[in-house]
Amino acid sequence: MPLKIDMHTHIIPKEMPRFAEKFGYDGFIHLEHHKPGFARMMKGEQFFREIEANCWDAQLRIEEYATHHTRMQVVCTIPVLFSYWAKPHDTLAVSEFLNDDIARLVADYPQHYIGLGTLPMQEATLAIRELERCKMIGLAGIQIGSNINDRNLNEPEFQPIFEACQSLGMAVFVHPWNMMGTKHIEKYWLPWLVGMPAETARAICSMIFGGVFERFPGLRVCFAHAGGSFLPTIGRIEHGYNCRPDLVAIDNPVNPRDYLGKFWVDCITHDPVMLRYVIEMVGEDKVTLGSDYPFPLGDLDIGAFIEAMGLPDATIEKIFWQNTADWLGISIT
Ligand SMILES: [Zn+2]
Repeated sequence: MPLKIDMHTHIIPKEMPRFAEKFGYDGFIHLEHHKPGFARMMKGEQFFREIEANCWDAQLRIEEYATHHTRMQVVCTIPVLFSYWAKPHDTLAVSEFLNDDIARLVADYPQHYIGLGTLPMQEATLAIRELERCKMIGLAGIQIGSNINDRNLNEPEFQPIFEACQSLGMAVFVHPWNMMGTKHIEKYWLPWLVGMPAETARAICSMIFGGVFERFPGLRVCFAHAGGSFLPTIGRIEHGYNCRPDLVAIDNPVNPRDYLGKFWVDCITHDPVMLRYVIEMVGEDKVTLGSDYPFPLGDLDIGAFIEAMGLPDATIEKIFWQNTADWLGISIT
């Protein structure tokens, strides 16, 4: 059995402070442990999602993912906790709390967990300060949203943060959240099924067309859910670049297809045909094993479908752990 490192998993501290009471306004997430092994994520008085103990219990998680031959998880917070909408110093306080919790986990279980932090992205000075602290407390990188309060990742205020990630060698994981058009597509779980893949494509296109990868060639970025709808629509995106450069190529003259192979994507496609296409598009060195554990829309068999695809052993090894080590800039022993 090849070693597996699952680089896309979410975790939350078992006890969350009542940030709303602390800061004097609502909208922050807290947990209601209403029965053993279960908790309700609450946004103020509004129910957001029911979660189970595998969302916070480090040992239970290790036992669960070991059944899928997974030795390590890269953990990050749940995007609804980003709290970018709050006052910047309050977002910083939330980020510090979440990052300290993950740092403790990594210190307690260095063989089983690698941590990614979260930052107050809406305020670059604070974000960079917390980024530097994340590195000091042993986190390998950060997770950021596909947009920051509806601002795209090419916007000038985010560039110093990317620059700092590059110079500190901190990996960046871009995760969809705050899905565009949510209020028009609430039925049928469409924000998750349609909005999330579109959000990730939005993030990739914004970073490409805004020249982020040109500006920071050493920045190591991985996009969730196999890059969402970006790779399946790369032909259209490239054609748009060619036929309307006056709209598309205004900040960066490089063909978007040239960026294939310059960033990583996870393997969460739930579809072997699509995963073959993804591997062909970005190359077998740039696809990482992710699951979205412990959430039901994730691949909770943690890459079992990849083992059944008949890929060469060397390719599977790359996807299952080597590419993640490269993205994070760490060596795995
Ligand atoms: Zn996720």
